[in-house]
Amino acid sequence: MAEGWDDLISEMLSLSQEETETAELAEAIRDDSDSESEAKLVACSPQTSDQWYVQLLKAHTKDIVPGGTQISGPIELLSGCTASFAEAAVLEALGIPFHACSTSEPNPSFRKFAHCNHAVDHAHEFLRGQADDAPCTLHPHARSCCVPCSVDLSIFGTPCPPFSQQRSKRMVSGTVKNHVLYSTTFGEATAFLERKEPKAAVMEQVRGFDKPEYAGDKSTPMRRFLDEIRLLERSGNFPVGGGYHIVINMLDYAEWVKLSRPRIFLAFLRKDVYDLVDAKNFIEIFEMIQRQQIAVGPLEISSLLLPTDDPLWKQHMQDHTKNSKTRTPQEPNDNAVWLRETAAWREKLGISPQFSPWTSCGFFEGIGLRKTHRVRDLLDCIVAEKTANLQKKTPAAIRAAMSGMYADTSQSHSRRTFTNKTGITNCLTTSSELYSFDRDAIVLPVEHLLLHGHHKSTVIPNGMSQADIKELAGEGMALPCLAVIIWSIFLTKQFP
Ligand SMILES: [Zn+2]
Repeated sequence: MAEGWDDLISEMLSLSQEETETAELAEAIRDDSDSESEAKLVACSPQTSDQWYVQLLKAHTKDIVPGGTQISGPIELLSGCTASFAEAAVLEALGIPFHACSTSEPNPSFRKFAHCNHAVDHAHEFLRGQADDAPCTLHPHARSCCVPCSVDLSIFGTPCPPFSQQRSKRMVSGTVKNHVLYSTTFGEATAFLERKEPKAAVMEQVRGFDKPEYAGDKSTPMRRFLDEIRLLERSGNFPVGGGYHIVINMLDYAEWVKLSRPRIFLAFLRKDVYDLVDAKNFIEIFEMIQRQQIAVGPLEISSLLLPTDDPLWKQHMQDHTKNSKTRTPQEPNDNAVWLRETAAWREKLGISPQFSPWTSCGFFEGIGLRKTHRVRDLLDCIVAEKTANLQKKTPAAIRAAMSGMYADTSQSHSRRTFTNKTGITNCLTTSSELYSFDRDAIVLPVEHLLLHGHHKSTVIPNGMSQADIKELAGEGMALPCLAVIIWSIFLTKQFP
């Protein structure tokens, strides 16, 4: 089975390299489209055209006439555990009309966030219940909550922890398969695809999904997942469409914003709706967008943050300060791990244990920051490292040298989670406490959402805690990356 999949995948991937052939095929399709009318181009919907990533995406693809026939009404969207319901925001921003027939999300706070921003017919807790048409959270007394329509697009995510390379025992044999959340991908997600057979689907996972499970493992969880789908396909478990062309897309959000978030997006194109030529076109469009975006380069993080005099910033900072645990810095425990880590780091830099170029500089406030000894020390070590070659270490010179830098103070000294030499800052997690050296303040959870492409007008439900907003952003997808995939599928055939 594994060989079958590898063949198909390598076939799909190598197709994209057959540039001449693909170009000819794409040309044929464009000629077809041209002969009908120009009305096929879908304009930005006026209320969302100010979204920065939509402007870029549409500029990158301005010469492409969408394949297929013009979309006649809303597409049917089925969402599975995507946390922030990013796909609804993306479709709206792209101006693609949709009807959200069903969602699933175990976190009630995330469900509330989704419902505050978009209408949905059914809201399940889990992929399994959604696949089984079980009663949903909106209709707990119903006999069943089924989706009667055929689904045009489904976006789903499964838990990352089993596969994440950030997990300390990720490479220990058995820890992936025995992880409590493993069966959500192997079982629930496959059942979801089998039962609903969406015409197109997108699944997001961390890059660790395609890394061996243990030293010497010749395969990866992703390859095993694809094998399983192939097996279901051969067993006739996709009666409507006969199975899927699957394209593996690697995207790093750092191509859009100087914020790392490398992800795998698997695009599933149902075989009775999308043929191999469509799959080739999809790959070509996707790669073209990536090339154009790389040529443009990523935005600075600061360009997406709120001004600190913005009422929204003030309101959220007030809320953050009110609710965050007020920790009086205590003398560190002599056995604390970070003390050993800072000693090693400082020795390497050749600085004394007391050297504190940032926190003793006179200007340091650390607005919104948990100013524990560990956090203060971490900032000082980072600044000492970044300004090691600075000739005159005046406060002004140090501030200037730290401009554009960020540190995730929720992470240990040893992880070195601060802006790297190429200007890229580490991936936001569900617990990140990102500190801006420019602002001398934390980046608020609501700004984590903005950094991932959410619009400033996104509604945050009353009573949603700062911790929940941060978790939502950390678990959710980066909208521009998802938009690349959805827009590529749209341009391929306009969701027939
Ligand atoms: Zn329902």
